[in-house]
Amino acid sequence: MQSYEAASDLMKDRVVLVTGASDGIGRVAALTLAAHGATVILLGRVLEKLDAVYDEIVAAGHPTPAILTLDLSMAGEHECRQLAEVVETTFGRLDGVLHNAAVLGDITPLEMYDPDTWDFVMKVNLRAPFVLTQALLPLLKQSPDASVVMTTSSVGRRARAFWGAYAISKCGIEGMVQMLADELANVSSIRVNAINPGATRTNMRASAYPGENPDGVTRPEALMPLYLYLLGPDSQGITGQSFDAQPPKAAS
Ligand code: NAP
Repeated sequence: MQSYEAASDLMKDRVVLVTGASDGIGRVAALTLAAHGATVILLGRVLEKLDAVYDEIVAAGHPTPAILTLDLSMAGEHECRQLAEVVETTFGRLDGVLHNAAVLGDITPLEMYDPDTWDFVMKVNLRAPFVLTQALLPLLKQSPDASVVMTTSSVGRRARAFWGAYAISKCGIEGMVQMLADELANVSSIRVNAINPGATRTNMRASAYPGENPDGVTRPEALMPLYLYLLGPDSQGITGQSFDAQPPKAAS
């Protein structure tokens, strides 16, 4: 999929919500989707960081984005329904969601894992994509070609020692993608897929591997063909699958 070449106007007239759009892969995905014509809803918890992404998109002459601030660790049914109402009132449509935001939590044996950290990680990484998707489904169903992309990890395919709640949350993401894709298959055209970015040069990667030289780690920009493919019209009919954005190598 790295060889996929997206048309320059691939995302024209589409409205796509990106969680964790303030930094790392989500920031680059938001910029890339906007560069291909999407109106991007930038969701994150720190307004100043989202403002900077907003300004970058506007300065480049791409469709004017929108900002929604929400701390996903506190995103309940009420907050997500409110958010869906804002999207409907402002844009009247939603064609894609990229569930990208996540936190790493602790890397430590299960025997020693702090239960509060566990709950926090599960809220951001697994509960938030669930409640947000649930609230946005009525809008997504109205789109002629909606795509939901969730973000997994190699430890979501095979949980590795010490990766704690992060690994289990990503195992849950893999399951949610399969389940939701099956549930929607016969009743809507919405496709639901997962992306494993693989080792990518971001703050999260640096936290997980503090001794690693970042120069040798793939930049988020290199992953974007797969993100465009799955969020754009060329992936119509593809659902329930989990994709690697780069050939799996080091732990990620
Ligand atoms: P990152 O650089 O740490 O960025 C994470 C993003 O999520 C930031 O925008 C962050 O916002 C946001 N976020 C975190 N907690 C949030 C909360 N409570 N509410 C709202 N937003 C929140 O991480 P990344 O490396 O780009 O990771 C992106 C996705 O790829 C994640 O799902 C991660 O699990 C997955 N992934 C990454 C790698 C890798 O090597 N980087 C490998 C496999 C999978 P702030 O700016 O406010 O912190």
